[in-house]
Amino acid sequence: MTATIIDGKAEATRLRGRIADEVAMFKRDHGFAPGLAVVLVGNDPASEVYVRNKATQTREAGMASFEYRLPESLTERALLELIGELNVRKDVHGILVQFPLPAQISAEKVIDAITPEKDVDGLHPINAGYLAAGKPGLAPCTPLGCVILAKKVHPNLRGLNVVVVGRSNLVGRPAALLFVNENCTVTIAHSATRDLPGTCRNADILVAAVGRPKLIKGSWLKPGATVIDVGINRVTKDGGGRLVGDVDFDEAVEIAGAITPVPGGVGPMTIACLLANTLSCARRKLGLPAAA
Ligand code: NAD
Repeated sequence: MTATIIDGKAEATRLRGRIADEVAMFKRDHGFAPGLAVVLVGNDPASEVYVRNKATQTREAGMASFEYRLPESLTERALLELIGELNVRKDVHGILVQFPLPAQISAEKVIDAITPEKDVDGLHPINAGYLAAGKPGLAPCTPLGCVILAKKVHPNLRGLNVVVVGRSNLVGRPAALLFVNENCTVTIAHSATRDLPGTCRNADILVAAVGRPKLIKGSWLKPGATVIDVGINRVTKDGGGRLVGDVDFDEAVEIAGAITPVPGGVGPMTIACLLANTLSCARRKLGLPAAA
């Protein structure tokens, strides 16, 4: 084994500690706590776990957590009305609606309904536009975590070749833009890319956000490359329900210079970055710069 393992769990713990310190100062200076509203519609077991963890970690950071657990049968109109109320509430600085949503509710309408100033998931077209234009806004949490972990290995990302595999609005696309904004040379690969192995071999930093277990092989990596594996795939066949990434870890660890494990890599960073975005929303409301 040659690669350094990038410990996302430890980094997330450090980041949450820094945020808790900043929240304490914020409360001392301004007399109120930043607040995050998390909305869960239905009973998807994975979403239940995410929402519970988000609420717990929000409170642990000293922020106010408002949880809404709504029935699977909820109408789109009722959800949009709730978002309208949260948009104007003074004690709510960030709003997160957990996806996936039941079929009767349009995710796009929900994303568009959240006021961009409280859009801690960074999915509203206004925030996506700010990111694309290289202007300050709110960026999606998982890609923010990817950049922080890449910087653990390369404190200055300038000029590095980054290949992002995947172009979703949630991960791949915003990750690519965040790395462009860090002065990287970025390639976005996806399901129509002709030579995926050859494209990956150009990467000083490879970000895999595909959702295909072990798609990326060790032989696709430039020796010494940094691998950021976003994939979370539950392998049931012969795998005993274990989680694996989009990168074949056992092969990649022999070739890469540094790699994030699954679990324990990018995953824990997502909630930490959500807390950072919530604090940023509260600070911006007061005309202060975003959280560090
Ligand atoms: P998605 O399905 O929305 O997008 C997948 C992307 O991969 C698409 O853009 C598609 O073009 C590309 N793709 C599909 N098959 C491909 C192939 N064979 N070759 C090259 N590209 C291909 O998925 P997503 O929401 O972006 O999530 C990707 C992965 O990241 C999933 O495993 C998901 O569970 C995980 N994820 C993790 C976190 C976290 O760590 N907190 C957060 C979000 C998503």
